[in-house]
Amino acid sequence: MESICVIDYETLRGAQNGEIVKEISVADKNVLETFHFKSPYIMKAHCYEENGIAWADGQLEYDKLRQTIREAVSGYAHLHAYGIAKTRFLTELVALPVPNLEDFNCSQPQGLMSQISCSMPCHKNYINHCCATRKAQALFKWIEHHLKSRNYTACPPDFTRHTASFNSCL
Ligand SMILES: [Zn+2]
Repeated sequence: MESICVIDYETLRGAQNGEIVKEISVADKNVLETFHFKSPYIMKAHCYEENGIAWADGQLEYDKLRQTIREAVSGYAHLHAYGIAKTRFLTELVALPVPNLEDFNCSQPQGLMSQISCSMPCHKNYINHCCATRKAQALFKWIEHHLKSRNYTACPPDFTRHTASFNSCL
């Protein structure tokens, strides 16, 4: 399990409709790392309803995004994310394959439970906001549960279609 991680992120709309990553998280069994980035340029203050993040939020310089996330995932053999847009973006960002958990019938991250809280003030106060930290951790828990239930399956294993395809990817 040590070599598997989940990446998730939250964005704001930048100039020319570009997506700007404001929060990005990497989760495994024992580690949950979150990075909050400053916006790369000045524009009118705005915020997303879904995640509550404001344009002025963040601590790290935006030009460190690629290097930061590449270092954070460098020890893992298998990276995962949820959704086609995110897996495409992350595959390009880290220059490694990032399979889509949707293809393994994983539930939407917003519907998964997470007990942890995030250091971003808007996420602490509003539990319903989309938070990359909580989603990455919840998605990793889903993988963990999925792999455990595979191990506990009575012999001969009765693999469902998605279990078989998930296993074949690991
Ligand atoms: Zn958060």
